[in-house]
Amino acid sequence: MTDPLYIRMHGNDNVAIVANDGGLPAGAIFADGLRLCERVPQGHKLALVNIPKGAAVLRYNVPIGYALKDISAGNWVHERLLQLPSARGLDNLPIATVKPAPMPPLVGYSFEGYRNVDGSVGSRNILAITTTVQCVAGVVAFAVKRIKEELLPRFPNVDDVVGLEHSYGCGVAIDAPDAIIAIRTLRNITLNPNFGGEVMVVSLGCEKLQPERLLPPGTIQIVDERNVADVGVNADAMLDVVCLQSENHVGFMSMIDSIMQAALPHLQRLNARRRETVPASELVVGVQCGGSDAFSGVTANPAVGFCTDLLVRAGATVMFSETTEVRDGIDQLTARASSPEVAQAMIREMAWYDAYLQKGQVDRSANTTPGNKQGGLSNIVEKAMGSIVKSGSAPINGVLAPGEKVRQKGLIYAATPASDFICGTLQLAAGINLHVFTTGRGTPYGLAEVPVIKVATRTDLARRWHDLMDINAGRIADGDATIEDVGWELFTFMLEVASGRKKTWAEHWKLHNALVLFNPAPVT
Ligand code: CA
Repeated sequence: MTDPLYIRMHGNDNVAIVANDGGLPAGAIFADGLRLCERVPQGHKLALVNIPKGAAVLRYNVPIGYALKDISAGNWVHERLLQLPSARGLDNLPIATVKPAPMPPLVGYSFEGYRNVDGSVGSRNILAITTTVQCVAGVVAFAVKRIKEELLPRFPNVDDVVGLEHSYGCGVAIDAPDAIIAIRTLRNITLNPNFGGEVMVVSLGCEKLQPERLLPPGTIQIVDERNVADVGVNADAMLDVVCLQSENHVGFMSMIDSIMQAALPHLQRLNARRRETVPASELVVGVQCGGSDAFSGVTANPAVGFCTDLLVRAGATVMFSETTEVRDGIDQLTARASSPEVAQAMIREMAWYDAYLQKGQVDRSANTTPGNKQGGLSNIVEKAMGSIVKSGSAPINGVLAPGEKVRQKGLIYAATPASDFICGTLQLAAGINLHVFTTGRGTPYGLAEVPVIKVATRTDLARRWHDLMDINAGRIADGDATIEDVGWELFTFMLEVASGRKKTWAEHWKLHNALVLFNPAPVT
């Protein structure tokens, strides 16, 4: 692509972004005769017409800001020229007003997955070791290394062994109302479909988050009679806990031996499992973005949105998240809710987050990063409009509060912070078996617990990070592929990855970010 090219998102927009790699110099002339007055970097906005001081600057047909001074056609419209609009209030929103025509079902697609006792399906077969507190993390990491080296070779059908390390468990106000968010997040991660219903816990002993509080009776499905305390209709699964402070432990090695012994029956049961053909409706996909640029909302996120619609049509579950990145589109989302109850749940989550930010004396504008701005995103409104398109066009069928587990099909709003690590952690708790991550600036993000498919927004990033990015949506801006092409490519790749036939680059290199629990409650 050498001819000067801009991309306008909507016919009413008075700005567009420069598509060319490396940006364009002053004097560059577009096909319609518009001439740039100054250099504009790639992904940054240029004025298509004269915009007088105080007028709305429109992208996605939405005011992303108001001009702080007169802007001439062909000028670079950067963030210092824009005044941020105030956030839409949460009163008088349109409630479930949009009734999209039903989308035709998408039938005939399947993948090979691990069917669990609770009906969920795993895309991987992993032994997860739950920890109640950060104190045990070093010991568990040591034990996991030994299990991988000495036991795992005997169980070829088990993909991996993962210690669920986190910073919660003690030194926290565990009875504060908001503590439930961190606790249920950890509980529901333990029950993620990729762990086969096998629950094994390592505890220190004196911590606030006792194993019975983390996983009360009734939360674990009975997978084997050996786990059952008493036989009968009221039988409950016994929690399999290794407590490091137990008097039986004399010396560090006895702790390691205990953990390895405890792992054996779980590994045996996981190893006996086989993949089976299941419909694509068993996919539970979490989508998010990170390291976004102005192309995120032009290439990768619209392609993900198209794929989201394919998944919904196939009967699957898709979650989008990142509260500060949808806050400015709240009226679109409440309008798209499938019922007034769903719309009210959406408003409840936004109000909770507004109050949470206010406690810290900031608002949703604290979201954008220096990299976002270098990538052409002037502010949170512009970022949000590009972020929401990941949700496609289906009605929103349900809302999850942070850390809750999904129980419905269709498009779900899982309320999470936009922080990549916290969003991924909360989506794991919600029960995803695949994660899709779009990026424009580039991030090597990955999770040990589920495959993470990374989608690049620009060909330049996909070229430089050829062994980190799984899908190149930049071809859309290059004119080499359509949004639909890349959406289908992503959908097909998902089925391959979920089946274990293909690995993502993050899996290939074993790039794993930490679990980061969202704990809005005080620490002590
Ligand atoms: Ca994010």
